[in-house]
Order: sequence, then C-alpha cells, then structure tokens
Amino acid sequence: MSGLLFVVAAASGTGKTSLVKALLDRVSDIHVSVSHTTRQQRPGELNGIHYHFTTVDSFLGLVNEGGFIEYAEVFGNYYGTSQAEVKKQLEAGHDVLLEIDWQGAEQVRRLFPDSKQIFIMPPSQYDLRERLSARAQDSLEVIEQRLAGAITDMQQYINFDYLVINDVFDRALHDIESIIHSCRLTISQQSKRHQKLIEALLTPNPER
Ligand code: 5GP
Repeated sequence: MSGLLFVVAAASGTGKTSLVKALLDRVSDIHVSVSHTTRQQRPGELNGIHYHFTTVDSFLGLVNEGGFIEYAEVFGNYYGTSQAEVKKQLEAGHDVLLEIDWQGAEQVRRLFPDSKQIFIMPPSQYDLRERLSARAQDSLEVIEQRLAGAITDMQQYINFDYLVINDVFDRALHDIESIIHSCRLTISQQSKRHQKLIEALLTPNPER
C-alpha cells in the first residue's frame, strides 16, 4: 500500500517550520523528508537531520541524474527533495511530509496529482513583518524586500488544497493535524488499510 504525500508550504516568516516540528509529536507514522540544500549550515543545524548540506556542483550533479522529485532556488540557494527517499517511504506505506516552497509544491503537484497540499498564511502583514524582523538581524531595507517577496509567494495559495491561518499556534497545529487525519480516513485509504476487516465484515458468516 502506498502512503500519502503531504506538502506544506508558506511564505518565509509564517512559522511553518515550528508547526511541522510540533506536528511530529502529535501525528504518528509520518516521515518528514530531509531536503538537500546548497545553503550554509546554520548554528545548531545537523547534516543529515535538518538538511543534507551539499555543494552546488554535487547538487547540480544530482539534478542531472534525476535525483530530485522537485528542486528550486530560494533566496539564492538550491533546495531539492530526494526522489529515492520519498519513493522508499511511500512504497513502504508511510505517509511523507514535504516542507518546501511553492515552486517545489508546483512540481510535486504535477508529478503526484494526489498529493495533499497545505498552504499556511500569517494572520496579518503586520505580524509577518514582526516575525521577519525578529528572526533576522537584517536592515530595514532587506526586511521590506523579504516582506514584498512573501506577499508575492502568498499569491500562490490558490493552487493549494488547504489553507491554514497561523494566528493561534495551537489552533493552526490542530488544523494541520485534522487535515492529515481526514485524508487518512477517506474510503480509498481506509479500504486499503482495512482490506481484510472489510472483507470479513461483508462476508455472510452463519457461525456468528
Ligand atoms: P531555510 O533555508 O530557511 O531552511 O528554507 C528556506 C525555504 O526553502 C523555505 O521556504 C523552505 O520550506 C524551502 N525549502 C526547504 N527545503 C526545500 C526543498 O527541498 N525544496 C524546495 N522547493 N524548497 C525547500
């Protein structure tokens, strides 16, 4: 049985990474794919855990070999999702979650039309500006540039299946959790998961 593929995307500064991190404590049997990136490792980040940190040359080599189901350039660095990792997990029946940008989500949508795509938005532009200012020691000009970029990114929401507003963190977390649970409860998923039970229930058995 093949697992479900979830995509979570958001403009930067929306709190997506914290939501995905908290989600893993609440939802069982979901695998978050570790992306490859050419960006610099940040303090506290571990190679192979947060990202596979690679050089531009080896990243582009993997692109040529068809090693990614999607890849994109974000803020001047390459990011990509390993084909082998996602395929292995899905084929083993595990659900997979990709935390990627909207360009990657678009490529995944084409390759996996059944993927469930979730977009997260902040509660206001004010809130987004605050979060962008708090996280980076950037100049006002850079923050304004990032905000403008975030507004352009948010225009992509219409291509997604689900929209979650990250106003109250726990509520947004509950929303994402609910989406995952309801996708797992569809007839097509449940009839695969409980094939034997359903067969037994639908077979007349005079001994019972
Ligand atoms: P950061 O460098 O802050 O960890 O991530 C920057 C952006 O790149 C975020 O929007 C993040 O979701 C996105 N990203 C991370 N991994 C991937 C990936 O494998 N593919 C794509 N397309 N975007 C990614």
